Parts: sequence; C-alpha cells; structure tokens
Amino acid sequence: MLYTSTRNNSIKVSASQAIAQGISEEGGLFVPCSLPDFSLDKINSMVEMNYINRAKTVLREFLTDFSEEELDYCVCGAYAAEKFSSDKIAPTVNVNKNENILELWHGPTCAFKDMALQLLPYLMTVSAKKTADGKTIVILVATSGDTGKAALEGFKDVDNTKILVFYPALGVSPMQKLQMVTQEGENVAVCAIEGNFDDAQSAVKSIFTNNDIKNELAQKNMMFSSANSINWGRLVPQIVYYFSAYCDLIEQKRINLGDEINVVVPTGNFGNILAAYYAKRMGLPIKKLVCASNSNNVLTDFINSGKYDKNRDFYTTTSPSMDILISSNLERLLYHVSGENADMIKSLMSSLSDEGKYEIGEEMLSKIKELFAAGFADENSVKQTIKEQFESFGYLCDTHTAVAVKVYEDYVSNSGDDIVSVIDSTASPYKFSKSVLSAISEENSDISDEFKTVDELNEKTGAPVPDPLKALKDKKIRFENICSKENMSEMVFNLLNI
Ligand SMILES: *Cc1c(COP(=O)(O)O)cnc(C)c1O
Repeated sequence: MLYTSTRNNSIKVSASQAIAQGISEEGGLFVPCSLPDFSLDKINSMVEMNYINRAKTVLREFLTDFSEEELDYCVCGAYAAEKFSSDKIAPTVNVNKNENILELWHGPTCAFKDMALQLLPYLMTVSAKKTADGKTIVILVATSGDTGKAALEGFKDVDNTKILVFYPALGVSPMQKLQMVTQEGENVAVCAIEGNFDDAQSAVKSIFTNNDIKNELAQKNMMFSSANSINWGRLVPQIVYYFSAYCDLIEQKRINLGDEINVVVPTGNFGNILAAYYAKRMGLPIKKLVCASNSNNVLTDFINSGKYDKNRDFYTTTSPSMDILISSNLERLLYHVSGENADMIKSLMSSLSDEGKYEIGEEMLSKIKELFAAGFADENSVKQTIKEQFESFGYLCDTHTAVAVKVYEDYVSNSGDDIVSVIDSTASPYKFSKSVLSAISEENSDISDEFKTVDELNEKTGAPVPDPLKALKDKKIRFENICSKENMSEMVFNLLNI
C-alpha cells in the first residue's frame, strides 16, 4: 500500500516512509492511496480473536512493507498485557440499553492516546531502520495534555530517539501537568509554553518545515518526526479499536453480524473520529459518525454549515484535550470527500493559515452531512451528564466522555435514530478528578490537593484509581522550563544540547 500527500498527489511513499517522516515535505498529511476491504466474513473471523490479533489483522493491510515478524514484534510489544489495566485492552461496556462505552483509557497514562502511542515508537523505530538508517529521530510534540504524557511514556529510553514535549502552561489539568513534569527517562524533555494548544501546534508545525533547522539537525545526524495525530502511525492504530468494539458487540449479542451501529467521538484534533471514518470506508457497518465538541465548537459549526472559522473566542474548559480550534486531521477528510483534490486542499489550507477560515462547496458539504452528525456540550451540561450517568447507571465518566454522552443523547432525541451505539471514553475520570468530583458532589470539597481529591472521588464512587496515577504522588519534579511561542525553536536547540 502506498501513501500520498493531501497537498500533492504526485508524492507516493511506503508506510514506513510516511511514519518515519511524519508530515509530507510541502506540509500536507500522508493518506493511503486506497483502502483495504473488510468483508463481513472477515469481520466475523475477528470476533473470536484477542485484541493483539485483531490489531494485526487490521494493521497488516496498511503496513505492507512490514514483515510478519516486524508486525508481530510491534503489536505484541505495544499491547502487552502488563501495560494495560484490562485484559481486553479496550473493553466495550454496556451502560444502558443501546448506549455502549468503549473504554480507551486502560493504558499506562490513562488516556486514549496510549492506544496509538504505545504502538507508535515500535512502528517508528522499525520504519527508521528501513528508511533513515543510523539517524536519531527527534520527536517534537505539541500537546493539549494527554498526547504529551502518552508520547513520553511510549518513547522513554527507546534507542535512537529523543522526545521534546511542549504544553500550554495554563491549558492542562493538574494531573496532566504532574504526569509530564515528573516524566522519567534519559531521552525526554518537557517545556511549558505561554499560549494555548493551537499556538504550540502551529509553532511545532513551523519548526518541522523550517529548512534551516532541519539542516542543522541533519549535520548532527538527527531528523524530526511527529507523534501528533498528523503522523499516519498515530492514526492507523486507532482504526483497530472500532473493529474490535464491533466484534465485542457481536460477542455480547448486542448486535448481529452486519447490523449498523453509530459511533460517537469526543473530538479535538479530529484524529479519533477520522479513524472511525476509515473503518467505515473499509466496510465496518457504521451508520453515522457523531462528532462531539465542547464549547470550542468550531467543528459543530463546520459540519452543519460548511464554513470553518477559527476566528472566535477560545474557551478553557474542563475537557482541555478538546480545547482546539484548528483540527489538523480534518484536512485528511476534506481530501477524501473532495475526490482526492490536492489543489483544492492546498488552497483551503492556505486560506486557513492566512485568514483563519475557509468554506467548502455544496457537494462536499452534502457528502460530509451524509457521513457525520455533529453537536456540542457546554460546561453546565458536561457537569450534569457526569452526575446523571453516575446516579442513574452507576457509571463514572470523565469530562471528555461526558461531552460525547451529552451529544449522543441530543442526537438520539433530535433524530430519533437510537440504534446500538458506541461512545468513545477517552480518559479515566481520575485524570480530571476535580471536575468530576464537583459534578457528582454538592459538598464543598478540599480541592487544593490533587491527591486528596482523588481519594475523595474514590471514597464517593468506589471506582478504582489507576495505579499509574497513584504512583505520581511520590515522583520528583524534573522539568520546570517555560518559554514564549516565539522562542520555541531556540528551546528545541537548548533541549537537544546543540
Ligand atoms: C486527545 C483527546 C481527545 C481528542 O481526540 P482527537 O483525536 O484529537 O479528536 C479527546 N479526549 C481526550 C481525553 C483526549 O486526550
């Protein structure tokens, strides 16, 4: 299978080139030139497999330049049972009637980013051996909170890699920050930036495409790559769990083979929901892809109107991993629904970077509306939803998941479409203890100490606290750097000691 760029159709690279490079040289994103077809028989054969074998079945079709041994090494290393708090890896849990929750946060950092970032370092080092022999890969990450920690944990002490993470100083939860600044490993560095996630992401993107910086790195035998969801190696592992959830639903007799389901995704950078779109195009019976946003509802407006406009107020919400106004992966969807029209994508994206907005035509919009529904949840309804889910069904969800649950409920009552649905749960409630506790408890709790909050939430709900979060209490703070977005490239050189 070959990959091309959303901004230049003449580019054709292998999976390992796409993964090692991260982003195409002209700034486009790598996309598969064609998609594999999964028949119902093939999906049926996956039902009795465990997660590792389901993953191999899907990934084999995309990573065609990986040998079977390499694939096995990558997948078994990434989804080793001892790293996950569920032996299902990503269990599908029924909450009420047709509402099923796909729990994607049983990995080492307690957010869904682990599903991809446990695998990416394996994919990247195998890819680099094939395409960039001997070079040290420098992973540069802009994070809204969860990616940074998951990438640090995935890449720590991986040979021939270094990883630098930038996070918005005021845009992450206390637990997210603590997870990052205490990160262990010899090849890692973390820095806060004065700005929001979009500032960090734009600065990282411009460092990636800056030829002077690239040349300087090349002289030291280093090359940049990306662990953000602009990297194909981040996206492809996410396709797996949609197939896996469908198989779980068959196993649990909630659906029959071939039945359609809806999928609801709390969305920020549009990576997770895009993986569901690919799964649908590969033959997984998904009816609607429901895109759930928080108060930063730029995607809701786009899917409903065809107008993307990031010139609007930016809200810092209780679901910080979705506080994003530039959803990078939307570019991939636009490329596909435009009929692979790279020239059009180039002009839409330059209008996005020049004016902060663009508008698509009627034809593209109607294709998108056929595939997607969209909605958003404000802060009040997030809180209300956490409380209701807990009180009515005994299910404790985090703030991001609550956004999706609320949008799901709205979607069902507005459309009447109440078929079996899978709602992605993207983080452990303990990553956002303060917000979750204040949603379920009327009392004024002592929220000055993160770990007291965790304990209180645990006492009130009985939900188990994940071990990796418990362990943070005794870890030493290692990183206290902070810089302005203008000084990020300087910081990169500092942190790399060059
Ligand atoms: C990253 C993240 C999201 C958003 O996922 P995208 O793939 O960027 O759309 C949602 N919830 C949590 C907890 C996350 O960490």
